[in-house]
Amino acid sequence: MIEFQAVRKEYDNGTVAVHELSLSVQSGTITVLVGPSGCGKTTLMRMVNRMIEPSSGTVLVGGADVRDRDPAQLRRGIGYVIQQAGLFPHRTVLDNIATVPVLSGASRRAARTRAGELLELVGLPQHLGSRYPAQLSGGQQQRVGVARALAADPPVLLMDEPFSAVDPVVREGLQDELLRLQGELDKTVLFVTHDIDEAIKLGEKVAVLRQGGHLVQYAEPDDLLAE
Ligand code: ADP
Ligand code: ADP
Repeated sequence: MIEFQAVRKEYDNGTVAVHELSLSVQSGTITVLVGPSGCGKTTLMRMVNRMIEPSSGTVLVGGADVRDRDPAQLRRGIGYVIQQAGLFPHRTVLDNIATVPVLSGASRRAARTRAGELLELVGLPQHLGSRYPAQLSGGQQQRVGVARALAADPPVLLMDEPFSAVDPVVREGLQDELLRLQGELDKTVLFVTHDIDEAIKLGEKVAVLRQGGHLVQYAEPDDLLAE
């Protein structure tokens, strides 16, 4: 579903963030990229939705070279969740979730109905829909971020340290929720974390990176070698 073929990224200042990396992400799985801060995880992930272009090599999504896709259209099929949920502060929770479908042409009413369903899907009570993001806890905001990313029903979900900013107990709840959601929705999820325990818990496949954007291991959690 997502394929990195000999992908290399060197930034303008000479930093090599990703060093000729090849990796094939199976559809319908949660694949985790794990490694220390600065090892190129975010760079790799952002090449999938063309927020960053590789210096060389090819990224394929659904068998097509992302360079041949219009970025806006490509991103409609790729939900994106970041560490600070990045919600619009002046819109209610429901409108935050409904924004993407409305921009893609859905009626406001249909989008809000769908937003209500998504609230339930991510385990939030309906009455939170009329609140503003600042009136929610960090964990609730992350759930809204996940709901918003799912609003366009994208086949691919990119999640960049989505649970790192919340406390450990809430984080565990969010992880469990993601596993449950994945069982239901069958998305192709690329999940970035620096936490090996989180990687092992969530990943059906885990890609371990080290500084300089080198792939050290790519295996099922049970087969990872201790390092
Ligand atoms: P991670 O997500 O694993 O923390 P990143 O992909 O954010 O890693 O960064 C990989 C490397 O590239 C780091 O050394 C980082 O400092 C560098 N880097 C990231 N973005 C830029 C940029 N826009 N310009 C120059 N260097 C960058
Ligand atoms: P620019 O070309 O202005 O740097 P970007 O491509 O980086 O624009 O994206 C603009 C904004 O859209 C950013 O805030 C980014 O986080 C967000 N964004 C980019 N890709 C996606 C996506 N697939 N889903 C949701 N938001 C996205």
